[in-house]
Amino acid sequence: MASTDGYNAFEMARAQFDSIADLIDLDQGARDFLRTPMREYHFTIPVRMDDGNVQVFQGFRVQHNDARGPSKGGIRFHPQETIDTVRALSMWMTWKCAVVDIPLGGGKGGVICDPHNLSMREQEAICRGFVRQLARNIGPIADVPAPDVMTNAQHMLWMMDEFEKIHGGHYPGVITGKPVGMGGSLGRTQATGYGVVYTLREALKELDIRPSDTIASVQGFGNVAQYAIELYTQIGGTVICASCWDQKDQCPYAFKKAQGIDLEELRGISDAFGGIDTDKARDLGYEVLSGEEWIEQDVDILFPSALENSITAENVGKISNRVKIIAEGANGPTTPDADRVLHERGIHVIPDFLANAGGVTCSYFEQVQSNMNYFWEMDEVLGKLDVKMTAAYVAVSELARKKKLYMRDAAYVVSINRVVEACRDRGWI
Ligand code: NAD
Repeated sequence: MASTDGYNAFEMARAQFDSIADLIDLDQGARDFLRTPMREYHFTIPVRMDDGNVQVFQGFRVQHNDARGPSKGGIRFHPQETIDTVRALSMWMTWKCAVVDIPLGGGKGGVICDPHNLSMREQEAICRGFVRQLARNIGPIADVPAPDVMTNAQHMLWMMDEFEKIHGGHYPGVITGKPVGMGGSLGRTQATGYGVVYTLREALKELDIRPSDTIASVQGFGNVAQYAIELYTQIGGTVICASCWDQKDQCPYAFKKAQGIDLEELRGISDAFGGIDTDKARDLGYEVLSGEEWIEQDVDILFPSALENSITAENVGKISNRVKIIAEGANGPTTPDADRVLHERGIHVIPDFLANAGGVTCSYFEQVQSNMNYFWEMDEVLGKLDVKMTAAYVAVSELARKKKLYMRDAAYVVSINRVVEACRDRGWI
């Protein structure tokens, strides 16, 4: 999500922070400190392109706050990347790490470039150039990057390799999102979707609803959505509708089976980008609906797990009265005006930076394992993930009940308080 068309992510992140700062009556010094990233690096990356010319790319790394531990956050490659997007994302990472109570701060990085138009060799040169500029400012005890939009495990390995070359040793804890066998963690693929369902399971317990008595509709069929469907189905739930973007028709579709979709069947007819083949789905007996209809289904649970700005003032009124819980797998799926409606209607929202924090929690586990050079079995990773996600959900939900707060506000209060406390304990503010 780059800053375009007047939308400024950093202004939005600051506005959210300001409203919670008012709510908890935060003093001016703490506000001033937390509204602005602690450190920013802006640098150029010259690359000898395949045609022999040199092209200069602009890179950024922002460390919003590291009072609770080394900064943590992805590096995205995007043609519309801006420093304000990176600032906003780094601030959101501070709150996300704090809400799940992992000992990490918030950071984010970016390079203005479009990998669609770059060869793998050119991308490798950008990765290595990025690390050369930051080799003294990142590291296992300072700032730990990860993949984000248009970067993947290969980019992370090149970055790790460059860091190790410069520092002369093995430092797999410098970066996460590495392949399993090269310092990556088992369970990372499942972590975000499963994490969403760990929090959902706790919410159902609180509302005294048995998972097997619920049905759900899902926006998206990518990494987060598929693993959320997998675990939700395992605990007894039934998904009746899932949706995806259709690359050929350039529009989204929703796929419905009233008695429940079959995850493996749909996986079998979907591509690596989470796109489902409409013809094959019809042959398998699915109703193929327009993409927006995922939100109108008469279900108990909605999983927006595709992209931002999905639940808006325009479509929030279409949400069925039966819906009790919305578990936000995606980042920023609900616009602020739609959010007010959900709040008024009393729908129990598990906010994005809590619901989808399983990903960063598992990245933290990857870093721990990398630093120890000892890697856990899948059960151990998922067991620890469940403990962390459950504790995080319970802390937020208890506060929401005690102070009569909306779940999103409660999650912000928990995380901002934790960060403020760490800054105060250190004597910074
Ligand atoms: P992905 O690329 O694997 O999948 C995205 C899915 O959304 C695909 O199935 C795509 O077809 C679908 N989609 C796109 N546009 C759509 C539309 N208009 N209607 C319906 N479906 C549409 O991505 P992902 O990793 O599953 O991430 C999904 C969301 O979760 C993003 O907001 C991401 O930032 C967030 N998130 C992901 C992780 C992670 O670990 N993967 C962690 C935290 C947050």
